Amino acid sequence: MTGCIFCQIIKKDITTKILYEDDDIIAFPDINPQAPVHILVLPKKHIPNNLALTNDEERLLGRIFLVINKLAAEKGLTTGGFRVVNNCLKDGGQAVEHLHFHLLGGRPLLWPPG
Ligand code: AMP
Ligand code: ZN
Repeated sequence: MTGCIFCQIIKKDITTKILYEDDDIIAFPDINPQAPVHILVLPKKHIPNNLALTNDEERLLGRIFLVINKLAAEKGLTTGGFRVVNNCLKDGGQAVEHLHFHLLGGRPLLWPPG
């Protein structure tokens, strides 16, 4: 979608270090990391947020979580643990309107979040 920064990354109009990619999913480092490991994992399809998901995306979501597990393992997070975050709409703190999941780890993460 025009104007969507993540769609521009998916189209390779913006260069980043791609950590995972297949036909449907991409992962790259967050530009403003909040933890030693902070990776964004997202569908290539422009889905604005979590609420816009339909039954068509059931399998895609499962695959996204398996990619998150793969990246967590690659980054050495499967012993100490990690957090997966989806910010939805304004009160959820969503800044980029293209569905994405934050994989955070590499330090103890506080709870509750701000
Ligand atoms: P959210 O607040 O959940 O919408 O998160 C959006 C995230 O995208 C923020 O953590 C930003 O730091 C990150 N971000 C914005 N632009 C880029 C970019 N060009 N490359 C990587 N991460 C980005
Ligand atoms: Zn998009």
